[in-house]
Amino acid sequence: MINESMFELGSKPSCIRELFMFGLERAKVVGKENVYDFSIGNPSVPAPLRVVEAFKEMTSRGDTLEIHSYTPAPGDPYARSAVAANLAMRTNTPISMEHIFFTCGAAPALVSVLRALSLPGSEVIGITPYFPEYRPFCEFTGHKYVVCPADYENFQINFAELEKCITPNTQAIIVNSPNNPSGAVYTKDTLETLAQLLNRKNEEYGHPIYVIADEPYRELTYDGAYVHYIPEIYPNTVICYSYSKVFSLPGERIGYFCVPPCCADGKKLFAAAAGAARIMGHVCAPSLQQMVVRACAEVKPDLTVYDQNRKLLYEALTSYGYQCVYPKGAFYLFVKAPYGTAKEFSDRAKLENLLIVPGDDFGCPEYFRASTCVSYEMIKRSLPVFKKLIDEKK
Ligand code: PLP
Repeated sequence: MINESMFELGSKPSCIRELFMFGLERAKVVGKENVYDFSIGNPSVPAPLRVVEAFKEMTSRGDTLEIHSYTPAPGDPYARSAVAANLAMRTNTPISMEHIFFTCGAAPALVSVLRALSLPGSEVIGITPYFPEYRPFCEFTGHKYVVCPADYENFQINFAELEKCITPNTQAIIVNSPNNPSGAVYTKDTLETLAQLLNRKNEEYGHPIYVIADEPYRELTYDGAYVHYIPEIYPNTVICYSYSKVFSLPGERIGYFCVPPCCADGKKLFAAAAGAARIMGHVCAPSLQQMVVRACAEVKPDLTVYDQNRKLLYEALTSYGYQCVYPKGAFYLFVKAPYGTAKEFSDRAKLENLLIVPGDDFGCPEYFRASTCVSYEMIKRSLPVFKKLIDEKK
């Protein structure tokens, strides 16, 4: 007998991946240059030179024991210390290696922390637009996933809505800033208001509500937008981080969770998340990648290409009449469908080989996502199609 819900989850491809596969098939028919694929969030710039050099250096050593062997379950102590030292220096807080647990990217970090917090009847809140995997991550780690609509003016938090979502069963709120797909970066004001609300609720319910800060885009901001270190504003925060986007290495699977020392019951939560990682087989993240992270903990990405793409697509689309909040981070544009639902609009665009992701799975069926981690030339070629589509209904 097979578990039916796992079967269903494993048999249904994500809408993003379906569009991506459709694009590959269309390219065989109409030519690659005639497919405008804005579907997937695969970093389109090469990894930073220091990272490439570190990989070369590590693999050329030929030292199987040092580079390719099992590390301790949470990771190599030197690599954990390097990440902790970098975080401590940037945030001026006493983070050390025992607060860091390496994972295969942000996804298993999230799942481990969520599993550690699941209790009978527990609830986790996701704020729209949210990364589609949050729902299965929450539901299959034993939580009810509660959706809170954002403030659509600017994609900051709508606190009246959030307060309605919080109950005595709320265990955590997932905060994703810079946000995939809206590109919003939460302001200090937003985070302080969140902290006030949660402190009030913690008092009322007699237990902490955790913030799970999902931060794969932490270093990807533009125009000087600043990503605040949330534990400084709200101590009961766990950070889930990934090098997928910042080092352009999504397939290499490396990230971590960090339970900072200020977090309530932090030691117990860290151990519980480590236990969850253990039962899911997510221990000893790839050793080579840990070594690279150790050597490159302070490396920052060059955002010139993403910034140019963001400006080109935003300026063109808004000049045609599309509505979109100017993204301050990540590498996506989240655009209001000019007519019909975003699914209908995306289906229409597909007929022109323009692949954009309807926002249904992000909790926003009126919006579509266009990734800007694509080539500048492809964006330029796609613009007449975007214009044609909006002009059709004028
Ligand atoms: N969280 C968000 C908001 C993401 O956009 C992604 C990947 O696109 C992830 C988590 C998962 O990241 P990773 O590839 O490191 O597992």
